[in-house]
Amino acid sequence: MPAPMPAAPAEAPDHDCPLCPRLVAYRLANRAKWPEWHNAPVPCWGPVDAPLMILGLAPGVKGANRTGRPFTGDHAGKLLYASLLRFGLAEGDYREDPADGMRLTGARIVNAVRCVPPENLPTPAEIGTCNRFLKAEFGAMPRLRVVLALGLVAHNAALKAHGIPAARHRFAHGALHALPGGLLLADSYHVSRYNTQTGRLTEAMFHSVLAAAIASAKSADFPPAEMNRP
Ligand code: SF4
Repeated sequence: MPAPMPAAPAEAPDHDCPLCPRLVAYRLANRAKWPEWHNAPVPCWGPVDAPLMILGLAPGVKGANRTGRPFTGDHAGKLLYASLLRFGLAEGDYREDPADGMRLTGARIVNAVRCVPPENLPTPAEIGTCNRFLKAEFGAMPRLRVVLALGLVAHNAALKAHGIPAARHRFAHGALHALPGGLLLADSYHVSRYNTQTGRLTEAMFHSVLAAAIASAKSADFPPAEMNRP
């Protein structure tokens, strides 16, 4: 059997992407305040030929916006990366630092919005504008079988990237949605500080969803996404 074609890199936003004026203004203010920080769209991380995409919301100002690696330095990264390591989707040690040497092996992490929004709240217009880059990521992952959406915004962004109305698939923690083309959308509450500290999302709950997503990604009778084939 011939080796699969290498995946093409997805269209990614420029370091100074000008498309969301409010986020650009916030970026410039953060650059002035913390010039040594990343303060730019945070690139996706992980192999593009992974069968699993973890789809988050947006960088945290003092986490991924500071370090330049998704979820790195964010409170949410603690549960997320500990879980990815536990389930064999990553190797190494997570030390909240892009130089920690940790490697993702079985999942690619993507955010619905690449720039940090004030108060962690992107507007619907910003989510819609950045959706072009999410759509490009879907197109650049030839073996993608499951997207694990962390929260409602990520869930809806995944649907939008596929041209599917949000009303057709309602977000619910633990739900699995079959999308056209053989892709599966799995829902989890976001691994945010609020959700984990209030008990809305426990470690066991997140592990249960992650295990189901991994099982679906490995399932022989679940066809690879037609739309993502090279
Ligand atoms: S959120 Fe996305 S579209 Fe908006 S400025 Fe940042 S990279 Fe560009």
